[in-house]
Formats: sequence, structure tokens, C-alpha cells
Amino acid sequence: MKKATTHPLRTALPTRIGVSRCLLGEKVRYDGGHKRDQFLTDVLGRYVEWVPICPEVEAGLGAPREAMRLVGDPHRPRLVTIDSHIDHTRALETMTRNRLDGLKSFDLSGYVFKKGSPSCGIERVRIYNEQGVPSRNGIGLFARGFIEQFPLIPVEEEGRLCDSTLRENFIERVFCYRRWQDLIQRGITRQALIQFHTIHKYLLLAHSPQQYKVLGRLIGQAHQYRPKELAHRYGELFMKTLAVKTTVRKHVNVLQHILGHFKERLSAHEKAELLGVIGDFHQELTPLIVPLTLIKHYVQIFDVRYIRDQIYLNPHPKELMLRNHV
Ligand code: SF4
Repeated sequence: MKKATTHPLRTALPTRIGVSRCLLGEKVRYDGGHKRDQFLTDVLGRYVEWVPICPEVEAGLGAPREAMRLVGDPHRPRLVTIDSHIDHTRALETMTRNRLDGLKSFDLSGYVFKKGSPSCGIERVRIYNEQGVPSRNGIGLFARGFIEQFPLIPVEEEGRLCDSTLRENFIERVFCYRRWQDLIQRGITRQALIQFHTIHKYLLLAHSPQQYKVLGRLIGQAHQYRPKELAHRYGELFMKTLAVKTTVRKHVNVLQHILGHFKERLSAHEKAELLGVIGDFHQELTPLIVPLTLIKHYVQIFDVRYIRDQIYLNPHPKELMLRNHV
């Protein structure tokens, strides 16, 4: 009898993602408007639970309000209104401290920030010097606090999610981080960590074969660490590895490795067909979903358990169709 397996996407808790509130269509912007992002509200929102935050409104600045910008020292900029020059830095910093403390219990698995905002932007936010000249090297005050407090949680800006590769990578990391949180909450053991590492093997290889080896060495030395320390080291490296960009070449390597698990059971015709489909992907004639679908078909037919359990085959809900575009 076949042993039932847990679906790799099934997690113990909802996948919660923090989000700049204006991106969900709420009228919290300085001009009383919003910046609703349709992908977030209508597509991704079906599979995650949003935790919306507007730092400026929560700092008591109201909506609408006078527009603000970052000024001064790039390492410690101040948040100042553009016309009346009122400094709201302290209000934002207090709000950030209090909110981040409260957020610990939310178990966020990701955060989508509004780009360019002096409170929410995570990169290239304008900072103005004393002469009023901007340089694009700032981070929003709330976003900076969030990243410092939760360095492993995947963060992204809504603008970058228009890029299909970045979008796929971000959402993959969100679901991976959710699984990692589940593992930690169940109470990490060396055995559980080995299992976790095993089912992520091909996903990690698609990002970085070098980092996968480093993670493997850590697993090999697991007995040298106390479980908490081991989890800390592994979690950090795991998330760092997933942030390395995948490439067509790395995917092709992974597909060929997977093929190695059942190629002896294919007829000459089937093998040639599958190699042809992988070759088309290699030449970027088709997206990743094409060879993967055929591979999943054979994994199912031949019941190749080791491969069937690999997160690489189902890293995020298929309905998001993220691999139709990479
Ligand atoms: S960018 Fe951030 S601070 Fe500005 S309106 Fe949106 S949520 Fe509020």
C-alpha cells in the first residue's frame, strides 16, 4: 500500500505577508489616494493572508497629509515635510519600534513594500542633502527597521514583482520561509532538519550548487551543534541560498539530474522526447513549466518517491502559474 505523504505546500499556519497598506487599495497615501496593485489583491491574495501596515498613518500623521521626504545624512536621514519642514522622524521611529515588537507574534513569511516611499521603500529611495539635491541611495525608515529586525524574512517591492523572474523568486522564498517556520515551531531535531534539507535538494541546486554543498557540510556536522545553533546557521544559509538567482543552465542541470532517477525506465522514444523538451527550454524556446510537466508525469507514473517529495516540483501554488513565465 502506498504511504500517504503530506503535500509540500501544506503548512501548519496561514502564510502571512506584510504589505504597504496603500498597495491593497486603501486610501492612506499623502494625497488621500491609494496604489492598488492588482496582482497582489486579485492573484497572490488568494493564497496568503495580508497584514497591511501604513507606517505614516499609524504614526498619527493622518491621510491626506503633507508630502514628506528623507533629508540629511544617508546613514541616519530625517523624515521631513516638503513645504512646512516639520520633522516627523521621531513619530515614525516610535511607531516602527512598537509595531515591529507586535509583529513578532504574526509570524510573517514575507513583506511587499511600496517602492520609493520615504517610509516603505527598500532601496533607491531619494535622500535630499542640505542643498535640496537628491541621491537615490536611501531606505524608508520603517522598511529599514523591519529588515534589521527580521533579516531572514523575504522582502520585495511591488514594482520589482512585475519582473517574472523576481516575482517567482520572491514567492518561492515566501513559501520556503513558511515551511522553515513550521519546522522551527514543531521543535527542530537533527533528523527533521535532514529531512527538510533532503526535500529541498533540487530547489537549492537550482539556485546555487556551491551553497548547496556548504549546507550539506553543515548537515554532515550537525552532531557538533546544539539544535538551536544548528537551526540558526542552517536557516540563515538556506534563505541566502534561495536568494541567489536561478538560471536556465542551473535549471537544466537539475532537470537532467532528475531524469537520471528514471531514465532507465523510459523507452528510447520517450527519452528522446524528454531530452528534446529540456533542450527547447535550454534554448529558451519554452518556459520551465514545459519540461517540468513532462517530468512530473513520469515521476507520477513510475512513482519515484525521492523525486515526488522534492519541493522543486511544487514550490508554490500552481494556480499562480509562475513557472509559465521563467
Ligand atoms: S507607501 Fe507606506 S507610508 Fe506611504 S501610503 Fe503606502 S503604506 Fe503608507
